Amino acid sequence: MRIGVCPGTFDPITYGHLDIIKRASRLFDHLYVAILVNPHKTPLFSVEERRIMLEAELRGLDRVSVETFRGLSIEYAKQKNAIAIVRGLRAVTDFEFEFKLAAMNRNLEGSIETVFMMTSSEYSFLSSSAVKEVAEFGGNVSKWVSPSVAALLSDKFKNGER
Ligand code: ADP
Repeated sequence: MRIGVCPGTFDPITYGHLDIIKRASRLFDHLYVAILVNPHKTPLFSVEERRIMLEAELRGLDRVSVETFRGLSIEYAKQKNAIAIVRGLRAVTDFEFEFKLAAMNRNLEGSIETVFMMTSSEYSFLSSSAVKEVAEFGGNVSKWVSPSVAALLSDKFKNGER
């Protein structure tokens, strides 16, 4: 059984994430999408809110499941017996960070590969933080997130969070 893991913050999940997850799911028998809990980040959505969001967005994709994990992605991958960690690459700006992360992970566990997938061109500029910025000022985010995620974003900002 070829298992892959796709770790991230997903705050919130965008069409860019969804595109990578759908494409990656074809490469493995099972793909675990893991919400990594990072104490150095202050996300807009709680882990539980993000888990519910991801489950709704990924419903219908068999061979994909959502989990949360507190710790390093490489530890999570080991626990799952994964053969690879999948990461998306948008532009050269992602490269240096991802390059270092992949090298660290290889050092920690040489048997697990990092697989990079190029973003689809329409999402090359898309990030969760850009979406949050646009949503905060009432802009239209419907090209980048699903209607339900857009509604959750607008609720958050209406309630004065951030
Ligand atoms: P992290 O904090 O781990 O970077 P993110 O939720 O920002 O978490 O991203 C998770 C993964 O999805 C990363 O590999 C990131 O490069 C990828 N990703 C995010 N947005 C896009 C996009 N628009 N196109 C392709 N990959 C993306």
